[in-house]
Amino acid sequence: METISKTKKQVYHFGTQETDGDRSMRNLLGGKGANLAEMSNLGIPVPPGFTITTEVCTKYNEVGREEVIALLKEEVEKAVASIEKEMETSFGDNENPLLLSVRSGARVSMPGMMDTVLNLGLNDESVLGLVKRTNNERFAWDSYRRFVQMYGGVVLGMKAETKEDENPFEEIIDNLKGKRRIKLDTQFTVQDLQDLVYDFKDAIKKSTGRDFPTDPWEQLWGSVMAVFDSWNGDRAVYYRKINGYPADWGTAVNVQAMVFGNMGDNSGTGVCFTRDAATGVNEFNGEYLINAQGEDVVAGVRTPQQITKMGSQRWAELAQIDEVERMKDFPSLEELMPKIYTELYEYQERLEKHYHDMQDMEFTIQNGKLWILQTRNGKRTGAAMVKIAMDLLKEGQVSEKEALLMIEANKLDELLHPIFDTNALKRAPVVAQGLPASPGAATGQIVFFADEADKFKNTILVRTETSPEDLEGMNLAKGILTARGGMTSHAAVVARGMGKCCVSGAGALKINYKKRSMTVGDQVYNEGDWISLNGSTGNIIEGKVATMEPELSGEFGELMELSNKFGNLKVRTNADNPKDAKIARNFGAQGIGLARTEHMFFEVDRIKAMREMILADTTKGRKAALEELLPMQRKDFEGIFEAMEGCPVTVRLLDPPLHEFVPHQLATQKELAEDLHISLSAVKNKVAELHEFNPMLGHRGCRLGITYPEITEMQTRAIMEAALNLKAKGIESKPEIMIPLVGSFEEFECQDKVIRDTAEVVFSEYGDTVDFTIGTMIEVPRAALMADTIAEKADFFSFGTNDLTQMTFGYSRDDAGKFLTVYLEEGILKNDPFEVLDQDGVGQLVDIGTKRGRSIKPDLKVGICGEHGGEPSSVEFCHSTGMDYVSCSPFRVPIARVAAAQAALK
Ligand code: ADP
Ligand code: MG
Ligand code: MG
Repeated sequence: METISKTKKQVYHFGTQETDGDRSMRNLLGGKGANLAEMSNLGIPVPPGFTITTEVCTKYNEVGREEVIALLKEEVEKAVASIEKEMETSFGDNENPLLLSVRSGARVSMPGMMDTVLNLGLNDESVLGLVKRTNNERFAWDSYRRFVQMYGGVVLGMKAETKEDENPFEEIIDNLKGKRRIKLDTQFTVQDLQDLVYDFKDAIKKSTGRDFPTDPWEQLWGSVMAVFDSWNGDRAVYYRKINGYPADWGTAVNVQAMVFGNMGDNSGTGVCFTRDAATGVNEFNGEYLINAQGEDVVAGVRTPQQITKMGSQRWAELAQIDEVERMKDFPSLEELMPKIYTELYEYQERLEKHYHDMQDMEFTIQNGKLWILQTRNGKRTGAAMVKIAMDLLKEGQVSEKEALLMIEANKLDELLHPIFDTNALKRAPVVAQGLPASPGAATGQIVFFADEADKFKNTILVRTETSPEDLEGMNLAKGILTARGGMTSHAAVVARGMGKCCVSGAGALKINYKKRSMTVGDQVYNEGDWISLNGSTGNIIEGKVATMEPELSGEFGELMELSNKFGNLKVRTNADNPKDAKIARNFGAQGIGLARTEHMFFEVDRIKAMREMILADTTKGRKAALEELLPMQRKDFEGIFEAMEGCPVTVRLLDPPLHEFVPHQLATQKELAEDLHISLSAVKNKVAELHEFNPMLGHRGCRLGITYPEITEMQTRAIMEAALNLKAKGIESKPEIMIPLVGSFEEFECQDKVIRDTAEVVFSEYGDTVDFTIGTMIEVPRAALMADTIAEKADFFSFGTNDLTQMTFGYSRDDAGKFLTVYLEEGILKNDPFEVLDQDGVGQLVDIGTKRGRSIKPDLKVGICGEHGGEPSSVEFCHSTGMDYVSCSPFRVPIARVAAAQAALK
């Protein structure tokens, strides 16, 4: 990175007067800073402020606090002076104090992952000045107590001692509420708020041994450094890890004049979305609170109100609130402040048209004046992602290419997950109702703490509300249920981003963390009890509910069509049976890239014949057992060929080491001995004989077919007979026979001959023929290197990147877990190479293999059939090597199709 000199600009202004950044500068100013500048440029009212660049954060991590303050001092003082001028207040002044917010903002949005401090600049004197100037004692003290609370948490590190404990400040607040017999923050008197300030300060002194800082400049630098520190806090580190963002991006710091939503009933704060982030429907929506500040809406301290009238009525129906009560206690912004609403509506429309994407905005109303505090491309579910992209395309806001590039291919996975069975739902006992915060179906056992989300196999994380600390647990749980918070609460926003089912704001739930239980009316549910969540309706259901395959939307089909238009890489599937083949075909698979034949042998009726074959000591005995397997295999292939409707099907000959098929437990060994009328010791001997020290490098792949050609003969016969039988019925099939684990031309040649000879025999028996090809899997590094010899005979190559990765790295896939986790944590590896193709190393072999193969046979068909075939970055790589197709598991076919189109566009 470039080093920062004193002369380099490190502070950028935004606001109504002077702005020197814009949206293109997100790497330097962070997303929030760049967009604050952009909005300022658009003439949208943004409170004035400045952004300290992300480069300074990186610098801070190198040189520390003092040096960074020295570096920034002059520019920051100048920038503060310019805010003072615009706001006609003065920072650190006791009569007319300027108050600031200090906000984090990395180049990508990480909602709630880093820290914010509001109302900075207050102390025991300036609070009195604020009282005088605003003539609003309550507001001034409310701001002060919020500041002490936030600064205490963010900068001074005050937090709950154990997870069952409350946050120390929340505890003080709750105690006071109990004493005063009130429920809401808004019911505190001025005296209460003053008491809170002093109690908070006492708690801080007791816990940290230090006095609360009264000097506003000390407060400011403390907060700026805390934002830098939060970049390396647990939450942010974890968020980066699951999203694959590098640590050296750093965060910017935004320092901004405060605007106050807590000045009374003519003030408020809220969050809104230009479209529905759960479904993608083009409806402006959001939530707000009157007389509130900052995170109140998101944190769920009070029940938030809906912004639009329609949203409010819908919400009231779910919450079972009648129209009279709704209008009295929960009117929409549209109804309560129609002028402000109209203005907000205009801004959201303008911003979406400007960014050509769904926006997630924050706003504050101070005494009847609207301020916009943030806009960003909103997080959304997979379903919303598809709908929004296709709708924007239809509206002419984006081009086909842009619409395709808006799709995060991996997120399509969410759309393909099972949903609740509609019939089962009719009978399901609904115990309570919350808000449908993030769609999906989740069934699991209740846990109450995020760090216990893996306590059972399937868990539902139940919380009063979630906080950024809970991220990891939310990711592990199958679903999330909160008692508080609305559609824009932390739980809701994060769950939608993760594509995780979430029901929020289920007010009927009472959660007792100490007892690890929740009650609904007089029903008690304990940790470990099963519940189900319907994220599309907000229903909370007792016990488990059956699921079914999801129905795909029209927009999904449109996206797939669009992908076909641009993608030139074909997408096939890995499928071993007709059912999977059909699923993949429905998702648009253009063939099977890998049909493994061994899985078929594990079924009960077949494993016996298989074992008989393995245990046979003579070729004759083996042939007899294979004879039994033949009709079963033939039937399998008939089913698969038929399901694929004439598309090519690559069948791989038997691959795994034989010992995987023999029984290893005494009871099953005895059974087998009886079945085969041989002695137990004969079985045991054979099992011992098959034992290998390194089975992955042992007697497997084409080595089986070479040592036992009768296996290859039987499999070839099954394939050819299946194709001929279908042909007789007028059904077309295109078999491609794939020889596994070839490392030399001679190996290939040997098996090639067995296959061709067998096919000849079958064809003459039937008096008919079918077209077929013979190719190989390239999965031994030597095969990639010798590809020009192998290609002389082979019709196609298919890179088996699972084994190729295993053998290139020398990592056993079955044992790598032990060190891979450490490798990933330590950054020795960027990705798990079994998930994301190692383009640098393994990729070279793919490239070499393809080039050498095609140097002999220019039209050699080349594909990939490892797990990587459905991983977007690997698909992009495959595209770049000039492959003909990728093949992946059925549910990844749509992902690969989009990734293939994106690769072609990039
Ligand atoms: P996050 O990145 O977690 O959204 P933000 O920096 O946006 O954090 O701030 C947290 C909350 O504080 C938001 O609700 C925001 O609207 C509010 N806030 C931030 N700056 C100001 C300000 N200058 N005046 C009033 N409220 C603010
Ligand atoms: Mg924000
Ligand atoms: Mg393999």
